[in-house]
Amino acid sequence: MFDSRTRTVVIVGAQWGDEGKGKLVDVLAERADWVVRYQGGANAGHTVHIGEKSFVLHQIPSGIMHPGVRCAIGNGVVLDPDTLFTEIDELIADGIDVQGRLYVSDRAHLVLPYHKMVDSLSSASREIGTTGRGIGPAYEDKIARRGVRVLDLRHTDRLRALVERGVKHANALLASFGVAERADVDSTMTLLQRLAPRILPITEDVGLVIHRAIKQGANVLLEGAQGSLLDIDHGTYPFVTSSSTTSGGAAIGVGIAPTAIHAALGIVKAYTTRVGNGPLPTELEEPLGAEMRRLGNEFGATTGRPRRCGWFDAVVVRYAARVNGLTGLAVTKLDVLDTFEKIALCTGYKVGDDLYTEFPGDLAALDGAQPQYEWMDGWQQDTSHARSLDELPAAARKYLERIEELVETPISHVSVGTRRDQIISVGREASPVSSGAN
Ligand code: GDP
Repeated sequence: MFDSRTRTVVIVGAQWGDEGKGKLVDVLAERADWVVRYQGGANAGHTVHIGEKSFVLHQIPSGIMHPGVRCAIGNGVVLDPDTLFTEIDELIADGIDVQGRLYVSDRAHLVLPYHKMVDSLSSASREIGTTGRGIGPAYEDKIARRGVRVLDLRHTDRLRALVERGVKHANALLASFGVAERADVDSTMTLLQRLAPRILPITEDVGLVIHRAIKQGANVLLEGAQGSLLDIDHGTYPFVTSSSTTSGGAAIGVGIAPTAIHAALGIVKAYTTRVGNGPLPTELEEPLGAEMRRLGNEFGATTGRPRRCGWFDAVVVRYAARVNGLTGLAVTKLDVLDTFEKIALCTGYKVGDDLYTEFPGDLAALDGAQPQYEWMDGWQQDTSHARSLDELPAAARKYLERIEELVETPISHVSVGTRRDQIISVGREASPVSSGAN
């Protein structure tokens, strides 16, 4: 993945999230100098399995599991300072040395207790399926120029004025929903004054730090959260998250130039899942959906919510390949399909007499859409021991080749289990997006 021309690589989910980005970041971080998160907040839940242990990281980049790697949380992330330190303390308790390896952008916005209070208020947010962790309201405050940034912790008076403004707005919202509960300035300030002495020493101008690292030839991995179809602009709006999950968002959310990013790796499951409401054209009916959910253990790492499951949707992934400029695909969870006799790939949607082969922006177009499937033979063999393409059954190779053709992107990695070593590095990739880092 990393070579002399490709040193800054962005990893994005190319479906609706939960594609196994955490595992790929963990695998690729072995050769990285830096891993940087660029959007989202504590609603992300990357799972990394090391030996018998599993770690769920909500805010800290998965690269923290590699002792030599430095990690940063970029300006595009909304940072929950309370849970950040819970996560840091858990890592330290597990013997992972975080000291001097984790930095937070001075420009990142803070998720404060009042954001969580307003998050679950509206029926709209329940329909969209927010995680109730205050992420959406924190991004709303950011866009409304009402947010509190990490750097504001340096100035108590200014901080208090900003918190007062945020609390006033939150309380107006709470009142408008007839909720008796109120946010309060003093308790928010007490929390921030308790946490500031821990946050400020790890606060940096992350954009500058990463810019310098790139100039010095460092390998930098930019770690996305959620998935491309949840992107605020390119996803299935309004059933989306509040940030730019796609590769363009990486430049903005770290504070580096788009031309400094050389490659974009899209992570996809060998099938499709999504959490919460919104379109999922290839969704399987029961009992097949439940069977895939059971085999893939498709329950949210952060929320425990069951995920909706369906066949691989090549229309969706080709769309993601386009909007992200994917140079490679990593197909995860191939092993989950090991027992299926027949496996389907969706190549388009039929709506009345119309055939859609490009993913539409108008979700109404998907109402009643009939996925057009290509059926392939399953391999009905255990793939979890394969460490090269040659060790995969012929039918599995054929399935992967068809995905490459339909998505028009080469597969660079195949994951066949939860463990670090259960990975096939294919080594194929398209040319870097650009090679102009320096
Ligand atoms: P992320 O948010 O994209 O990192 O995805 P999650 O961590 O929510 O979900 C991925 C889940 O799938 C985790 O529990 C991973 O350990 C697991 N996983 C990743 N790759 C594979 C794989 O190849 N096979 C199987 N069976 N599980 C995998």
